[in-house]
Amino acid sequence: MSDRAPSDPARRPTPPASVSRPVASPIWPSVVWRAEDADALDAQYEGRTRGYAYARESHPNAEMLAAAIDALEGVPEAGGGGLMFGSGMGAVSAVLLGLLKSGDRVIASNQLYGRTLRMMTQDLPRFGIGVEFIDPTDAAAWATAARTPAAMIFAEVVSNPTLRVADMEAARAAAQASGALFVVDNTFTTPRGWRPFEHGADVVLHSVTKLLAGHSDATLGWVAARDPGVREKLFAAQGSIGATASPFDCWLAERGVLSFGLRYDRAEANASALADHLATLPGVEAAIYPGRPDHPDHNRAGALLQGRFGTMVAFRLAGGRAAANAFIRAAEQLPFAPSLGDVQTLLSHPPSSSHRALTEEGRLALGITQGFIRVSVGIEEIETLKREFSTAVAAAV
Ligand SMILES: *Cc1c(COP(=O)(O)O)cnc(C)c1O
Repeated sequence: MSDRAPSDPARRPTPPASVSRPVASPIWPSVVWRAEDADALDAQYEGRTRGYAYARESHPNAEMLAAAIDALEGVPEAGGGGLMFGSGMGAVSAVLLGLLKSGDRVIASNQLYGRTLRMMTQDLPRFGIGVEFIDPTDAAAWATAARTPAAMIFAEVVSNPTLRVADMEAARAAAQASGALFVVDNTFTTPRGWRPFEHGADVVLHSVTKLLAGHSDATLGWVAARDPGVREKLFAAQGSIGATASPFDCWLAERGVLSFGLRYDRAEANASALADHLATLPGVEAAIYPGRPDHPDHNRAGALLQGRFGTMVAFRLAGGRAAANAFIRAAEQLPFAPSLGDVQTLLSHPPSSSHRALTEEGRLALGITQGFIRVSVGIEEIETLKREFSTAVAAAV
């Protein structure tokens, strides 16, 4: 019997000793950690020693992944590093519930991620928190809203699904003028496109589920703050909300982050080429991409993003809903699956998914027709994508 053998079938074996270390990170699924004695636990909780106690508060896989994302986002040293959540919405919840209080006023972009908008319209009012929604591309709207004090400004750089580019300089100025915390959800743009902490953001968050993890196999969120006091509140909210990041998902995402830069650059080059290709196809009414000169925010996107126009493309088929259905059915190799940031190109149809709660007029005001298709561009060979889109669009004419 080896000396690692347990003394009882219900006792765990002792891990083997090794003087060499693994190259790939281990996974630590342990929910609870064992301390030497009660004094040792006190020392840990009082910050005199470093150790883990309970996975909802922290675990090594979450910390390692957070550190990797911190480096990408350039989290200010004083902020103390990012926190992981079991989803992007876990991070959004911690920001809204952990940093706001009854009587507070929020100024938010009216084109945020759908579930964030829902939380702001359905849930925050129940806690006595008011939200004023504004057009994020309109500098004057930011300035006007900022004349009344606010607790938080919440923005995304590139909107879903019309890919409008927010006036982030105006948003920052509004945060300063109104005394608000400046919160940026950087999921679509990623630190490869824009690093919010370098542009005055106080809090930055991600749905790591999307581009950072990149393989549609892990659901995770991340949030970091500039100020340690703000981080403290987010950490407290994390423990109470309990949207704990799974160690296995963190491990998968850590692996995904290793290739994030390569994936992003490839997907972005594909997106630019695909948008130009779509614009040449009969039956395509409009190809939407911030890098195209015909995009309404092209100039601002150029100045703000310095050529990093992103991995998302949208287009409108002239034939409405019937054309959208025909296109989706013909695009056999392109999954019709409403997420983004996967290695593979994914299609979504906002009128039947993210924007189904809006009225038809409300959608049309945003330019979302029944023939509107959003494309999360992947890392395939560009010739493959051009061929597949040509074939599927031809089937929809
Ligand atoms: C997907 C997404 C979220 C929510 O993230 P989940 O991981 O799905 O909870 C938040 N913001 C943006 C911009 C997103 O795309």
